[in-house]
Amino acid sequence: MKGSERRKELIGWLETEGSLSLLDIVERFGISKMTAHRDLEALEARHALKRIHGGAVALEKPATAPAAATAAPLPSFTGTAQGSCVICFRPTGQHLLYSLTLNNGEQRLTCCPHCGVSAHLMLGDQVAMALTADYLTGRPHPVQGSFFVLGSAAVPCCRPSILTFEDQAMAQRFQTGFGGTLGRLEDAIGYLQEEMSLHREGEGCPHCAGQARRD
Ligand SMILES: [Zn+2]
Ligand SMILES: [Zn+2]
Repeated sequence: MKGSERRKELIGWLETEGSLSLLDIVERFGISKMTAHRDLEALEARHALKRIHGGAVALEKPATAPAAATAAPLPSFTGTAQGSCVICFRPTGQHLLYSLTLNNGEQRLTCCPHCGVSAHLMLGDQVAMALTADYLTGRPHPVQGSFFVLGSAAVPCCRPSILTFEDQAMAQRFQTGFGGTLGRLEDAIGYLQEEMSLHREGEGCPHCAGQARRD
């Protein structure tokens, strides 16, 4: 199969399935990882898809864009996204940012929704509100309305992976490709609590172990 045909077929699959992992692409076409990478790069350059860690997702159709454009002003991360995660001290960036505003008005930033959910566990009732970035668009939105994909194969930051999506359909499409379970904030909190109790003894991530000792 010629490269151009393969890329056309790849886009077709992506449109049907919403997301493809690099391994899917390698297996289905019987090509090398390198070639799969190059295809995704070329297609992203043409704005035919969005590359994500370990694969690619379909872009939303422009037809759905006007609705978002006329919607109420979007919440935004106040202040700067630069800082370090209050849970694991990794530097924070805009893309996976999760920000918590406390009852006293102070803001706490975390590197990704994994640490954001850890922060809910740690801070409890002190949290007045929280915003999280959509994993695909980077757009901040209130965590209460967010869809959480828990424990998928895509781990852009902390493990176990917790990623947030503003749009339920996109979260489901992502989950189809990358696994994990879909839930809301309460589910994410429960999920991490369970993970922490599993890590209570022995190895596991250092901050989770630290959290587990607190209760
Ligand atoms: Zn962190
Ligand atoms: Zn993180």
